[in-house]
Amino acid sequence: MKREKTYEPKEREITVRSEIIELLKLKELTTLEISRLVRIPEKSVSEHIEHIRRGLQNKGYYLKIIPAVCLSCGFVFKKRDKIKPPTRCPLCKSEHIQDSTFKILPLE
Ligand SMILES: [Zn+2]
Repeated sequence: MKREKTYEPKEREITVRSEIIELLKLKELTTLEISRLVRIPEKSVSEHIEHIRRGLQNKGYYLKIIPAVCLSCGFVFKKRDKIKPPTRCPLCKSEHIQDSTFKILPLE
């Protein structure tokens, strides 16, 4: 019996992606919250969001990224355009970071 271990089937990926899109249309979520809701690893969530972001523009939506914030000193990770959340504050080196949150909104 053959089993693909490292790749999930294409259909599952598409389903996961549309699930994430539907969730993000409803409310703001972090990658961790999405990973719990869709039951996939947080690392995969970042990859899916990257794909979703690229595909959204021609569907009349855009991905709003609310930047991560340091909970110790209030530093906002504004310039960070990456999907992957930061793990440490560049100013105070604290690891108490409120992750970036994502929301899908219709284009005006
Ligand atoms: Zn800080």
